[in-house]
Amino acid sequence: MKKLALHWKILIGMVLGLLFGFAMTGISWGTEFVVDWIQPLGTIFVKLLKLIAIPLILASLIKGISDLKDISKFRDIGLRTIMIYVVTTVIAITIGLLLVNAIQPGDGVSEETITKITETYANDGGVQSKIAEAGRQKESGPLQFLEDMVPDNAFMALSNNKLMLQVIFFAIFMGISMLLIGEKSAKPLKRFFDSLNEVVLKMVDLIMLTAPVAVFALLASVVVSSSDPDLLLALLKYAGVVVLGLLLMIVFYTIVVSVYTKKNPFWFLKEISPAQLLAFSTSSSAATLPVTMERVEEHIGVDKEVSSFVLPVGATINMDGTSLYQGVAAVFISQALGFDLTLGAQLTIVLTALLASIGSAAVPGAGMVMLVIVLESIGFPSDKLAIGLALIFAVDRPLDMCRTVVNVTGDATVSMIVAKSVGKLGNPKVKDWDEHYEEVK
Ligand code: ASP
Repeated sequence: MKKLALHWKILIGMVLGLLFGFAMTGISWGTEFVVDWIQPLGTIFVKLLKLIAIPLILASLIKGISDLKDISKFRDIGLRTIMIYVVTTVIAITIGLLLVNAIQPGDGVSEETITKITETYANDGGVQSKIAEAGRQKESGPLQFLEDMVPDNAFMALSNNKLMLQVIFFAIFMGISMLLIGEKSAKPLKRFFDSLNEVVLKMVDLIMLTAPVAVFALLASVVVSSSDPDLLLALLKYAGVVVLGLLLMIVFYTIVVSVYTKKNPFWFLKEISPAQLLAFSTSSSAATLPVTMERVEEHIGVDKEVSSFVLPVGATINMDGTSLYQGVAAVFISQALGFDLTLGAQLTIVLTALLASIGSAAVPGAGMVMLVIVLESIGFPSDKLAIGLALIFAVDRPLDMCRTVVNVTGDATVSMIVAKSVGKLGNPKVKDWDEHYEEVK
């Protein structure tokens, strides 16, 4: 087993987890067994990844900026990153809208299915909580996001995983100030963050040793808690359109990688695959972030000066998969419930899905909360919102898993583009977890 590449080990864990989950659903005590004895292994793994996310962002961003030696370079990287993020997101939404309009998955859904789904899910706590959450988000003013980005207490920001943008803000502020006090005075602090950064990356290596077992547990838990297979079948055409769109996005990324960075796209996919597989298993770009950073820096060769900014920012604001899904879902729900969409409404979807994906948290199911806001922006009747969401609820988890893969791949691709454009795409320098093991064991 030792020589097998990590992505194969993870894949085997995933397949076994799926099979085990299916086998357990056939046994009367199976679901309870998985929830009590298997699921905790997956939960612990996700907690470990989240545990190191904030220290990693802080250390790597401060190290990245203080290595730049020049504030204008940081401004350059920042502007390019945001611009490319907006462009890839708009491309994703456009692909989604083109597909859903061409294939029209909503027209085939029968009245009977709509009634059955409405009865099952419209009053479900899951659907209702998403609508309530969207209501809370919508009440805020237009500049609320800027206000939210600035912490009033650094330690409070560092102690809350949901406040990743505040941590990014603080780290950038500190990094730039370190540049401004001159190399000599900044040296002790810089060495401290350099070392912290190395330690946290080692923690990623150690956590990843358990990844094959963890994905087994995560996937078995997803299977035992999944919905009625009949409903999944009724929604197959809709799910197929989302998955097709997501696949096209992956193709788009590989083309960009090979044309712009001149790297082999299959090599890129292979190196980034452990992060993709974890994105699929955890449905969270935030939880996957430490692994994405490790893969992109050590295995792809993007300099930390670029990746330390592009990836954490991307995990929170760049969600190509989510925005594509929001576009497809909004049109699908309108088609199925007979709500006419004008061209103007479709253009509104492009704009709101762009903003919604920026506002979606990088956690499971967040895309569906912001979908409510997309639907409201096109004048979708509010009394039908619960039915609309109920319609797609049954397949949301598997689609969430797939769109998170695209979200993470998109961030990695953009980090390569930005790195290439500023001459910071170098050679990979892989560090194994046991490099110094012999000395300390
Ligand atoms: N789960 C997604 C992510 O973490 C967000 C979403 O689409 O719900 O990237």
